[in-house]
Amino acid sequence: MAYRVPFVDPREHYRRLKHEIDAAIIGTLAQGDLVLRGQLRSFEQHLAEFVGVRYAVGVNSCYHALHLSLLAAGIGSGDEVVTVGHTFVATISAVVHAGASPVLVDVGKDFNMDMACLERAITPRTRAVIPVHLNGRVCDMDRLSALAARHRLVVIEDAAQALGASFGGRGAGSFGAAGCFSFYPFKALGGIGDGGAVTTNDPEVARTVTLLRFNGEDRETGEFHHHGYTALLDNVQAAVLDVKLRHLPRWIEHRRAMAARYTEGLRGLAGVALPPIDGDGYHDSFQNYVIRAHRRDALRAFLREQGVETLVHWSKPVWQHKGLGLPGPDLPETEALCEEVISLPMSAETTEEHVDATVAAIRAFYG
Ligand SMILES: *Cc1c(COP(=O)(O)O)cnc(C)c1O
Repeated sequence: MAYRVPFVDPREHYRRLKHEIDAAIIGTLAQGDLVLRGQLRSFEQHLAEFVGVRYAVGVNSCYHALHLSLLAAGIGSGDEVVTVGHTFVATISAVVHAGASPVLVDVGKDFNMDMACLERAITPRTRAVIPVHLNGRVCDMDRLSALAARHRLVVIEDAAQALGASFGGRGAGSFGAAGCFSFYPFKALGGIGDGGAVTTNDPEVARTVTLLRFNGEDRETGEFHHHGYTALLDNVQAAVLDVKLRHLPRWIEHRRAMAARYTEGLRGLAGVALPPIDGDGYHDSFQNYVIRAHRRDALRAFLREQGVETLVHWSKPVWQHKGLGLPGPDLPETEALCEEVISLPMSAETTEEHVDATVAAIRAFYG
């Protein structure tokens, strides 16, 4: 159905940028620059500057960014990696495919890793921790970094939802041994297909990921250093992303303004808990605007009737998907979120009218 208020609007997104995107694609094709060319290097350089790190390495997804970062950090069989239960499955699959054991912990009221839970989960086998900066809000990296240093854990950030968010003035993806980003079309910086990147200050991590993303080969010498993967960021994708990265600061400001408008409109409404407001060192990028709602499923059906499109991330705890073979942890906050969370329309194209219509519909439901 056609929604009056779409969750995202890829057609409008393209319409606004058509000239620039078309020129990037056609220019790349006309030059015959398909694989590992200047457009990729240019995007990697601009991304590294934007995040505030020395290196960025383009890969084909955040999944591969996570997987290759774990391999580059030497994580494998016999190792435990702590991450959250409230995340997209790819965070956990990367750990499994690296040969390590994922240990899932609970989140706090800001949807991010609860540091007390992390501390309790650390064992002599724990080698790494993957904080997930969910919805465009960075985890408490002061406490996490201190814990990681004390226990000698490698930190690999899942920053798929947090490009442009910061904590204490430092960008998401610049704290750990590696930061992992997604350019899946509906991320804040979205390509025209899959894409991702690893950011790091460590030249060894950058080099190993660069080898692993393309069959383990050192392209200068022709030497194969690893059994690698075919996980490059395509040159055409890089050209489009390089164009869009220039708009990203403005888009994030827009997301923040729409988030403030939601918060203003929904404040004080019984039945709804609002997402954290930043300040105190946090600067959120609002990949998603997520509320916790009483009678969530009924609200969602009502909003659909009203022409407002919403999403739920996620309605079933990841460990309850039998095919994943994950041990069943006891994570009460994550389980409660599965019943309560609902993501409201949010993108660079979301308008004040969209927000106001959504707020009015939510108020009508509870009122
Ligand atoms: C989108 C997302 C991923 C996966 O990104 P892909 O580029 O699709 O592989 C991983 N983690 C989180 C938190 C995400 O939101």
